[in-house]
Amino acid sequence: MMRKKILIAEDESIIRMDLKMMLEDNGYEVVGEAGDGERAIELAYLHKPDLILMDIKMPKINGLQASQIIGKQLDLPILIITAYSQKEFVEKAQQDNVVGYLVKPIAESNLIPTIEIALHQADKAKRLKKDILNAHQEVEKRKLIERAKGILMQKRQLTEQEAYKTMRNSSMSSQLPMEAIAEEIIAAYK
Ligand SMILES: [Mg+2]
Repeated sequence: MMRKKILIAEDESIIRMDLKMMLEDNGYEVVGEAGDGERAIELAYLHKPDLILMDIKMPKINGLQASQIIGKQLDLPILIITAYSQKEFVEKAQQDNVVGYLVKPIAESNLIPTIEIALHQADKAKRLKKDILNAHQEVEKRKLIERAKGILMQKRQLTEQEAYKTMRNSSMSSQLPMEAIAEEIIAAYK
């Protein structure tokens, strides 16, 4: 199994080291360590990790802003790590890519299961998005085919079945998918 890649963004180096050790002890690959939000964004772009552990209070760009930017541009899952006093910020940070949060001090017995769940959720969300995209593309394809069929029926005085058969035949003889044939027909009669 491929080791999951994790990026740590935390400005306190002792906590960062601690997290890194816990992660590596449990078979994760720490692909980067950032001490501020700006660096976190850079490293997120560079490594495209499976998950980012993101502290809130950090120099330059805080963790919530960095999460927002990463969410919009890269859509990577983020697990917020926070001091107890910052919990309210997390609740405000309702972003799709924030998959959970951990309150400091972080114990290994807490960190690892939370990461496992976060990774699982992120996988599920990714699959769901792909399914939705596929379904959307399928609908678009069908719309194209319907449109082309309508054009053939009208321009060549064909029945629906004949129009469909014509398209299917040219799809088979040209070895192009039906939607490509449909696009050609739509373009030809423009
Ligand atoms: Mg901090």
